[in-house]
Amino acid sequence: MTGAVVGLDIGGTKTAAALVGPGGDVLERRQVPTPARSGPAAVLDTAARLAADLLDAAGPGPVGVGTAGTVDPATGTIRYATDSLPGWTGTPVVDALAGRLGRSVRVTNDVNAAALGECWVGAARDCRDVLLVAVGTGLGAAIVRDGRVEAGARGAAGEIAHLPAPGAQRLRCGCGRYGHLEAIASGTGVAAAYALATGTRLTGRTVAERAAAGDIVARQVLDRAGTALGTALAGLVALLDPQAVLVAGGAAGGLLPAGSAAYSAELPAGWADVPLRPAALGPDAVVVGAARLAMDTQE
Ligand SMILES: [Zn+2]
Repeated sequence: MTGAVVGLDIGGTKTAAALVGPGGDVLERRQVPTPARSGPAAVLDTAARLAADLLDAAGPGPVGVGTAGTVDPATGTIRYATDSLPGWTGTPVVDALAGRLGRSVRVTNDVNAAALGECWVGAARDCRDVLLVAVGTGLGAAIVRDGRVEAGARGAAGEIAHLPAPGAQRLRCGCGRYGHLEAIASGTGVAAAYALATGTRLTGRTVAERAAAGDIVARQVLDRAGTALGTALAGLVALLDPQAVLVAGGAAGGLLPAGSAAYSAELPAGWADVPLRPAALGPDAVVVGAARLAMDTQE
């Protein structure tokens, strides 16, 4: 492991790049809106331009990438992505960026990258076995086992969005079915539950602001979402046996009070000491973890 590495974060809203030092410190960062509506070539051009700006100061090794979507671990191609990046499914991210940058490229899903970052210099820096849950517009998770992300047979291990969740029976999931965890414990889920209760359609963020300002219905919606999440995580602890569970993402804060209480109440006795912690790296988690992935896989 020598010198600094460039990490990229390709999301539906923003694309970020950072020069990350060998100790995990962010030395320089760049961020621009992702030109998602202009198609995959424009998204790749934008990401390559940001990375190229930082490459002169980096060591000679690969560039790391965390991207929205499910990544085929064998080819570095996107197996599946939602409409947040239209046309992204099928994009050969590794080959396309390597061609543009003249460097080898390592790619993983963005939640996986965030988990690597948190295990390196974030809220799980003392851990090699971690479950990280990202609560944003949707709900994702990553499993880190002995310091490496569990990929699964199709690069999609850790997908917790479609677990059955008590309390979500009347809420439609992004997959089209009802009763799944993402349908209640996500920004979209919170917005839908609030609309169902009040007839008023707000964003998940606004529901959280109303709860903080004393809106009782908003607080109840967030508490139900947090309880569903905490209960599910307690069950997953027994399945995965991690050292810690981390909750990341823009919608995490509103769910944590009820989520932590439900998690503690539901943890099986053998795992009563497994902590539930907020993630620590915020928006830097993906670029830092992508850099770590590149460092770990230098030839
Ligand atoms: Zn679903």
